[in-house]
Amino acid sequence: MHSNISIFVPHVGCPHKCAFCDQRTITGEQKLPHKEDVERACLQALEEVSDITDTEIAFFGGSFTAIPRDYMLELLTAAYKFAGEGKFKGIRLSTRPDYINSEILDILKQYGVTAIELGAQSMSDEVLEANERGHTAEDVRQASKLIREYGFELGLQMMVGLYKSGHQQEDETFNEIMAIHPDTVRIYPVVILKHTRLAELLASGEYKPMSFDEVLSLSTRALGAFTEAGIKVIKCGLHASEFVEKDMVGGFYHPAFRELCEGMIYRQAIEKALGDAPENGTYTFIIGKGCISKAVGHKRANREYFEKSGLRIKFTEDNDIPLYEVRLIKSEGSENV
Ligand code: SF4
Repeated sequence: MHSNISIFVPHVGCPHKCAFCDQRTITGEQKLPHKEDVERACLQALEEVSDITDTEIAFFGGSFTAIPRDYMLELLTAAYKFAGEGKFKGIRLSTRPDYINSEILDILKQYGVTAIELGAQSMSDEVLEANERGHTAEDVRQASKLIREYGFELGLQMMVGLYKSGHQQEDETFNEIMAIHPDTVRIYPVVILKHTRLAELLASGEYKPMSFDEVLSLSTRALGAFTEAGIKVIKCGLHASEFVEKDMVGGFYHPAFRELCEGMIYRQAIEKALGDAPENGTYTFIIGKGCISKAVGHKRANREYFEKSGLRIKFTEDNDIPLYEVRLIKSEGSENV
């Protein structure tokens, strides 16, 4: 099973103040990791992780390639000692699209980096500007192209429901990410944290976020379509965390957000398979192995949803059915249909 040795690198001297970012995570409180911390984390993983060939050393925190060069090299050198000897699968990092160029990518190649994730957040310039990202959609396109040319795995992170993002801007982001076709995507519905510009805009009434159901529906579409297109969605919704629950003042947080989206994908697939006006009765669907809880829905929501219309839904698993697909095999009183 895939795992990450996660090393959080708080952004040192970030030149930007994105409207959704809690600046306290940048300016202090968090200790900066050094080479000893990287080595300790890798040695610990060597003892504890069963399959190190599917384990990556991951530098997260937003802007890895924008941190001071000496410091970046210190961390990379420490990680490369482990990744370079083939002990782990590789090195993954996340950064801003405007801190990617040939010179930086040459260094990352040299130090054994294998995957680069870009915080794209939106592909609408209007939304990027309104949320004070400090880069454009073109920066994302150019950086993605260059990362691909160098042969790195490409990841894109997107946010849903940002300030000034309506359905048109959400479509733009979704369509462009589909067209870039990264290897991985992270989908983050916006969470409005205290001490951020978005919190101020929310309090003043200037930012009127979409409804939770709209954001759920947009995220569901992205999760389903990216998966179907072979783009791996490695995150959908923020981690369930006490920090977020304590510090959020608005936005779209749910501790089981991905489960909600997966339930919606199955609900839509079942409705499609049933067609218009199905007769009351019991229907059996084959679904992929290990997908029953996703198909039944969060807190059995799908079962209850269909029961309200007099439909009883049953599932059986089959290894050959892909994730999020359903196949109707039986309805009460009839053989295979
Ligand atoms: S989200 Fe924006 S402000 Fe926060 S660390 Fe990343 S680039 Fe800097």
